[in-house]
Amino acid sequence: MNSDSVAMTDLFEKMQKPETVCIFGTGDFGRSLGLRLLQSGYSVVYGSRDPKNSLLLPKGSKVMTHAAAACEAHVVFVAVQREHYGFLSSMVSDLEGKVLVDVSNNLKRGLYPESNAEYLSRLVPGATVVKAFNTISAWALQSGGLDANRQVLLCGDRSDAKQQLMDIAQSLGFTAVDRGSLRVAADLEDLPLQLFPLWRLPLNIAICLTAFIFFYALTRDVIYERVTNGKDIAFRIMISLANKAFPIVSLVMLSLCYLPGAMAGFLQLYNGTKYRRFPDWLDRWMLCRKQLGLLALAFGFLHVLYTLVIPIRYYVRYRINVYTISLVKDNTTYEFDNTAAWRYDSYYSMGILGFGLFVLLGITSLPSVSNSLNWREFSFVQSKLGYITLLLCTAHTFLYGWDRFLKPSSYRWWMPPAYMLSLVVPCVVLILKLILITPCVDSKVTRIRQGWERQGKTLANGRDTKTNQPLMA
Ligand code: NAP
Repeated sequence: MNSDSVAMTDLFEKMQKPETVCIFGTGDFGRSLGLRLLQSGYSVVYGSRDPKNSLLLPKGSKVMTHAAAACEAHVVFVAVQREHYGFLSSMVSDLEGKVLVDVSNNLKRGLYPESNAEYLSRLVPGATVVKAFNTISAWALQSGGLDANRQVLLCGDRSDAKQQLMDIAQSLGFTAVDRGSLRVAADLEDLPLQLFPLWRLPLNIAICLTAFIFFYALTRDVIYERVTNGKDIAFRIMISLANKAFPIVSLVMLSLCYLPGAMAGFLQLYNGTKYRRFPDWLDRWMLCRKQLGLLALAFGFLHVLYTLVIPIRYYVRYRINVYTISLVKDNTTYEFDNTAAWRYDSYYSMGILGFGLFVLLGITSLPSVSNSLNWREFSFVQSKLGYITLLLCTAHTFLYGWDRFLKPSSYRWWMPPAYMLSLVVPCVVLILKLILITPCVDSKVTRIRQGWERQGKTLANGRDTKTNQPLMA
């Protein structure tokens, strides 16, 4: 055999031999990761404090002391809680030149002054630390990627080490996303601790609005009736009041989705540039528009369900029967009112169309659907159809109230009917939008959004004329 064929045989054997990965720690995460690595063709060796008593390890893996295991592989996953990292400082020479993967998370934010990954890097300076896999749960590793979260976020200071981890993540069936240097590790460690961050504001708005409208309607309808007429109609709390609160919350929240966009348009007009940052509260509001819209849809859906049961309600059937019997007793009939027929049909029609478009907006906000739309299609649905939805739902509410706002009896204890409150925000949004789409304003906003700036807005050094602060995109 000549030297060329020997080299080829070595290379072939190397290619055939599975790459060995070391895992420190035989806990839940270590075992799940090991199993997944073995299934993906890697050879796995565990480093444990007590190799003899390590049970339940995946079949085909080996277990030995930490030092012996570290010698077997170039990549070492540290699947141990941060509190126990201390033992690693005595292994500095064994881990020299290795890639150490920090998978750890903390119980709370801000528990330590530095991220776990940076701490690990300080403990073992001769190793290259990569933060990865901490956003993947042991369960997700076991479920073989069926779990919706298929992204492995990673960060580290050396690109060759990160590339190795990306290759491993990819062969395990995950999509690896490089988030930058090790300084980002603290952010990655915070991710699993977040509890629906974008839902918090919309949920609080929904809860506060529902409570307010419910107590408003309770005072106006039930308590008023009790105090002034001595009638107990508290049973209406269950369906009538709920069906008053839900559509109002839905309509107000739908308009709250579109209000920040309109306000942003006016701010840009006022600033004469798009390169000035919006206030933080407006930024935060804009970021949670999708969640506001989805909650509004959920409340709209409840309104539809509550409305569907109206004909089978005992109270409604009783009222219809009493009315019909009184007509029979008085030997009268009730005249067909053409205006009322138009009003009710239009009211239902606006509601049905509005809800139909609302559902469409909800569907197009799903990532699987929105990813298949280009930007123009997405903004057509979410902006143009969104405003049409808002218009239809507002018209539905106007038709519901009809001329009730003119009748003094509608104002109990000086409180207007609840539906009137729900019209304030949508009307403001629609008026603002109407102003923004008038040709002279629209052309100005469009120019600003294409990068045009009002003269005198910037100084030569790119700072704002008023505040002398740097302008940001
Ligand atoms: P675990 O079940 O408590 O296991 C941790 C392992 O660490 C133990 O089985 C033990 O292995 C080793 N260990 C314990 N005390 C030690 C000490 N004083 N010195 C050295 N080694 C010690 O924890 P886990 O759920 O597998 O989590 C491990 C790491 O993965 C944690 O940092 C966690 O934040 C991270 N993580 C976990 C999940 C998850 O879903 N569980 C998800 C993402 C990230 P030996 O007995 O073999 O030494």
